Amino acid sequence: MSKIAIITGITGQDGSYLAELLLKKKYIVHGFIRKKINNKKNLWRIHKIIKKLKLHKVDISNLNSISKLIKKIKPNEFYHLAAQAYDGHSFNNEFYTFDVNLNFTHKIISSVFKANKKAKFFFAGSSEMYSKDMVKKIDETTNFNPKSAYGIAKVASHFLIKNYRETFNFNASTGILFNHESPRKDENFVLRKISKSVAKIKLGLQKNLLLGNIKSKRDWGHAKDYVHAMWLINQQKKGSDYIIGSGQMNSVETFVKKAFKHVKLDYKKYVIIDKKLIRKKDSKARLANPTKIQKKLGWRRKYNFNSLIVDMVENDLEILKKRKN
Ligand code: NAP
Repeated sequence: MSKIAIITGITGQDGSYLAELLLKKKYIVHGFIRKKINNKKNLWRIHKIIKKLKLHKVDISNLNSISKLIKKIKPNEFYHLAAQAYDGHSFNNEFYTFDVNLNFTHKIISSVFKANKKAKFFFAGSSEMYSKDMVKKIDETTNFNPKSAYGIAKVASHFLIKNYRETFNFNASTGILFNHESPRKDENFVLRKISKSVAKIKLGLQKNLLLGNIKSKRDWGHAKDYVHAMWLINQQKKGSDYIIGSGQMNSVETFVKKAFKHVKLDYKKYVIIDKKLIRKKDSKARLANPTKIQKKLGWRRKYNFNSLIVDMVENDLEILKKRKN
């Protein structure tokens, strides 16, 4: 019999890749969404698979309706990926950030536990749960020290999940995700902005690329590898917490250089540094130590930094060429 999975955040980068992965594995896939199902603009990442999904519009504040719905679906696996990230990285909109990133998590996990005590539960944590001044690689023993409403809510949700695991013996896990990108990343994020601009410049649709601090570094991986990690975590007999990251640091400059080189152009001719785009308080790069998930679950990345760049640039080239024709 097919396994039943529910994904929150199914319209996002990770949710869409995860839904594809689960469909390939013959799961029945349900997705919780916040906007109307006919809101096409919001569904672009899942439009190719939408007919195979069972989508439900969910009000994150309504415990009763969330509980009823989860009870009706009775999932074998739950992937809680929805998060308020935009304002969350500051204290703007702090109450809403806590409502989405903590209180919604609470409603979800208590409902899943009530509906199926044998279900497996995955929660998407973040490197924002740690201090911005980390010098050592981060592993599962590193102390948390969040500096934003988003980070605090993720840490609190993580402890909630740990408590369900330890108090109720529930198979619940947190995957602490470091930055990951893909052709489906929102264009407001720098790597996607670069891949799209490189494609546009190559096709003669744009002249220059304005960037801020290109020396800025991050631990970047490919979203497809990270959703595979989520699935692996939910296949274990017991829940646990795992760092999910590449363990390698790369700069925006390296991405830019390689992205232009991929289309046979020299980045120096096109990139303009715009001081207005340099963040006053850019966080220092946090580096993951993914040894636990590699050793315990055998997780291996299929994409390195180079193949991530190629995937993103090629995808943007393809989209633009289709539009041109
Ligand atoms: P994403 O592309 O921004 O998708 C976020 C998802 O959450 C979307 O489906 C979005 O729905 C939903 N969402 C946002 N605000 C919501 C709200 N107020 N109520 C209900 N749903 C809401 O993010 P992602 O990259 O897939 O990330 C997935 C998870 O990993 C998130 O929990 C994120 O915090 C975590 N994470 C991601 C990264 C990364 O580099 N991508 C790093 C660390 C942690 P709409 O489509 O309706 O907006």
